Amino acid sequence: MTRDPDRLVWKDVLAHMRKAYPTVCRQWFDEIELVGIDGGSVVLRAHSAVHRDYLRRHCLEQFNDAVRTVTGRLLAVRFVGPDEATGIESPPAPEFRDGLTTPAADQANPEDQLAGSPSDELAADAMAQPSSMAQQVEPRSAPPHPPAWAASPRPAHYSSEAEPLGPGSLVINPDYDFENFIVGPSNRIAHAAGIAVSSNPGRAYNPLFIHGAVGLGKTHLLQAICLNIRKNFPAAAIHYISCEVFVTDFVDRVRAGAMAEFRHRFRSVDALVIDDIHFLTKREQTQEEFFHTFNTLYGAHKQIVLASDRPPDEIPELQDRLISRFKWGLVAPIEAPNFETRIAILKSKAAIRGLDLPDDVAIHIASRLTANIRELEGAITKLQLRAMVDSKSIDLEMAQEAIGASPAAAQADLTVQAIIDVVVGFYRVQLHDLKSKKRQRSIALPRQVCMYLARRNTRKSLQEIGSHFGDRDHTTVMHAIRTVETRRERDRDFGHSIGTLEQLLAAARR
Ligand code: ADP
Ligand code: MG
Repeated sequence: MTRDPDRLVWKDVLAHMRKAYPTVCRQWFDEIELVGIDGGSVVLRAHSAVHRDYLRRHCLEQFNDAVRTVTGRLLAVRFVGPDEATGIESPPAPEFRDGLTTPAADQANPEDQLAGSPSDELAADAMAQPSSMAQQVEPRSAPPHPPAWAASPRPAHYSSEAEPLGPGSLVINPDYDFENFIVGPSNRIAHAAGIAVSSNPGRAYNPLFIHGAVGLGKTHLLQAICLNIRKNFPAAAIHYISCEVFVTDFVDRVRAGAMAEFRHRFRSVDALVIDDIHFLTKREQTQEEFFHTFNTLYGAHKQIVLASDRPPDEIPELQDRLISRFKWGLVAPIEAPNFETRIAILKSKAAIRGLDLPDDVAIHIASRLTANIRELEGAITKLQLRAMVDSKSIDLEMAQEAIGASPAAAQADLTVQAIIDVVVGFYRVQLHDLKSKKRQRSIALPRQVCMYLARRNTRKSLQEIGSHFGDRDHTTVMHAIRTVETRRERDRDFGHSIGTLEQLLAAARR
């Protein structure tokens, strides 16, 4: 095959992106197609309008830089969607296209992957819920909804590919789909409900109200719901906004005397998805307006999905009638993920970035960062940058340096021996037994607790920790940490004991 200069340029551009902007790059960048170079523009085709909007919003500068660096010319990048005309008259020669990437039209829609096994499992999960949810979630083989839903023509202000979710909607992150949403005990109900409403909008739970602390996946879930509704009902008009937009838009429209347009925009959609609805607090007039919007949509069986940092009745200064409406459907909490879920999330986030994250590194991060998932992602970004700067692959040592300072470890250096002393006293075991090869439970458990606490409270490596306990190897220590972490989450009494031990250690530091 002939060497095609454009093709080589494109390969170099992607290579430059991965090297210079590793944290921005995603695996799906491989699916971007080079349409051609037109005057001063490099035209790149994304495989969906959602991907295109995301690229425009979040990656334009980086691509511009990559293209300029690689070509040495002052070119600008232009992203287009799958069906968008480009103005480039002659398409690249067929052998060029073959060699480059599959043309967008022949590619499987990545969103179709959502219909695969995870969704099936999740629908089954939803059905397994003991609550009333079970009666309402239909098997996926059944027609997902009465044909009337979203069958009416889209409102005039919606055009299909131009704005996938309607004007004013927030930009969707293509990573935030159901496939990339890891399910665990902390979010199972919210997730199952999300699958249900996007398969059967307006009928399964209306409204769906998701609440949880910051960084636990509310926005991710809302976006997954939007993507799934769009996949199941391509004609549906979805409006996805933050509550802040609703509030400021409302205020602007009132001032401009353009309330009719505002009302039409919000009341003519098939699905209204609003993030951070607690922002309605204290705004009497906006609450009033939202109340009527809610009633109109609800009465027309249109789907409403809301997310908030707390349950409806804890949102301060929210009108009672709104509180009660927010509880008409399903109120689904999202809690902090447990250890196993944190590990799975880390693995998934790394895979999306095409990163290899060794098990011991994932365990290290998951045992140190426990409160919020954004922190886990931040840790991956940190390591990715460190790996780039050091030209090394990510390993435990790097992770210990980058994330080593857990709040506890940062305070003061505890020695493993100090930890052993506290544990020996607490469990009333013999020091020499802890250091022996004995495996009976009365010894094994305190030994595992020592390893776990040493890991959380010192900067010692797994191997160093193992050396204090009869020269056990790092896999034994890793197993001990997992065991304690999991049990701590499941067994309240045990969790209590570990809490006490941590307090004793804190006291030992002073
Ligand atoms: P919130 O809106 O609750 O503050 P986000 O939805 O912004 O939280 O989530 C913060 C980060 O954590 C995002 O990168 C999101 O993808 C990730 N995340 C949260 N929950 C999950 C999950 N269950 N699986 C995978 N990633 C998750
Ligand atoms: Mg959010």
